Amino acid sequence: MEVIWFKRDLRVEDNAALATAGAGAVPLYIIEPEYWRLPDTSARQYAFLAEALNGLRDDLGQLGAPLIVRVGDAVDVLDALHATHGLTRLISHEETGNRWTFARDRAVAAWAKGKGIQWLELPNSGVVRRLDNRDGWARHRDAVMRQPQIAPPNLRPHDLDLGGVPMLRDLGLTDDCAHRQRGGRAEALSLLGGFLTERGHSYRSAMSSPLAGEWACSRLSPHFAFGTLSIREAVQAGQARAAEVKGTRSSWIGSLRSFQSRLAWRDHFIQKLEDEPRIETRALHTAYENLRPKMPDADRLHAWENGETGLPFVDACMRFLHATGWLNFRMRSMVMAVASYHLWLDWRHTGPHLARMFTDYEPGIHWSQVQMQSGTTGMNTIRIYNPVKQGQDQDPDGIFTRRWCPELADVPDRFLQEPWAWEGAARLRYPAPIVDVKAAAKAAREAVWAVRRGDAFWNEAQQVVKKHASRKKDRGFQRDPIKKPAAEQLKFDL
Ligand SMILES: Cc1cc2nc3c(=O)[nH]c(=O)nc-3n(C[C@H](O)[C@H](O)[C@H](O)COP(=O)(O)OP(=O)(O)OC[C@H]3O[C@@H](n4cnc5c(N)ncnc54)[C@H](O)[C@@H]3O)c2cc1C
Repeated sequence: MEVIWFKRDLRVEDNAALATAGAGAVPLYIIEPEYWRLPDTSARQYAFLAEALNGLRDDLGQLGAPLIVRVGDAVDVLDALHATHGLTRLISHEETGNRWTFARDRAVAAWAKGKGIQWLELPNSGVVRRLDNRDGWARHRDAVMRQPQIAPPNLRPHDLDLGGVPMLRDLGLTDDCAHRQRGGRAEALSLLGGFLTERGHSYRSAMSSPLAGEWACSRLSPHFAFGTLSIREAVQAGQARAAEVKGTRSSWIGSLRSFQSRLAWRDHFIQKLEDEPRIETRALHTAYENLRPKMPDADRLHAWENGETGLPFVDACMRFLHATGWLNFRMRSMVMAVASYHLWLDWRHTGPHLARMFTDYEPGIHWSQVQMQSGTTGMNTIRIYNPVKQGQDQDPDGIFTRRWCPELADVPDRFLQEPWAWEGAARLRYPAPIVDVKAAAKAAREAVWAVRRGDAFWNEAQQVVKKHASRKKDRGFQRDPIKKPAAEQLKFDL
């Protein structure tokens, strides 16, 4: 019996693994309870997954063979199926997941080899397994995106017990995300359609605003993470829309271009984790490995996680994230940077919290971005966002901040992002700021800079850039003179 093992590709359209399998193949999804107990996974992600699986079961049923669901360790599940039905071939997409799924895949590969079963793994995007270097990578990715979408095949009915999709409580999980995005293919298509015909109009100008961005961004990220939509489908739909608006003076043109670059960034960042799985746990540049205390300040960590830092815009973003499972890119960067610089917390303690909060947790993007916003890559511009200024710029009328921090309802606009400076501050039932924003940023900047002095740092930085820069012309650079802040910007567009 041939098995199609669905992983982060929960769709029948444009699914190479499904199309490659024979008509008699049995579609399988394995729910692994151990995965759902990891510190970077959460109930909100499981709830989204469960919705997607129910939709996938129906779609596969339409093709002839509904999805079977099994619960347990992947090797045990496959071994049991082999014992009863004799597996001949296992087909799936390549998965660039966290280190737990990486270890699980190794165990499955060893098991399959031991049993003489072929495991065929196919690419799921522009990400390339066992890539030697980045030369020609962007061209390869573009070529993959140009290929025609793969039509779903017909399947032969099977007589296996379908198995149920466990409820959250069966796995000991509780979803506390009141406004979580819904999973499933129909939802993905609605978002894509709505974005390309209406919401995306102001994408480029509105994407960084906490209010407008919620509407103007595509909101497709959890669907890409679970594969209810393929990247190629989104790329090609965006290109088709761009052809329609070509020649007009509409803001669609810039917005659609920005959308395409972000879709490309997605593959670019996932490729980083594929090439170097250690970035989930080790600083990309080893000089930053021990930059921050290994044991975090528990009070600061707790305040940051719960939106109680006394920095209104940070707290509003963290509370919004808790309630919705989503933040736009700018807000994600800011809350991460504040945790890493102002609160001086090690990214290995804060990164898992954000991963759990994001319904769209995608390890390749997440850990690369977490390190970038914490200044531990050795090759990106160090950006210490000022949360007071971000609040004033991105939420000038204070609507977002007051909505999520109602304790600040009476604070005048002028003081909203720094209520401690307001004469009525003592009356507020809102925490005093956990750090002095300017002093904390200065101390962080100096500590990061201290690491940058010395040849060893620059020699390694050069190696990092050589390996990770996506464009050839960015791969050689001279050592910066490190005289003043502007000089530290290694102008790489990564
Ligand atoms: C600290 C931090 C952690 C992040 N963790 C994740 C994560 O776990 N999962 C995740 O999908 N994104 C992550 N991002 C990237 C980005 O913030 C989200 O992809 C985006 O906000 C999702 O919303 P959207 O689908 O509306 O995006 P849109 O702006 O509509 O973009 C469309 C798609 O492009 C991709 N994309 C957008 N921005 C980026 C980016 N900067 N890098 C790579 N791909 C991008 C995503 O797949 C996204 O769905 C992280 C960013 C930061 C700063």
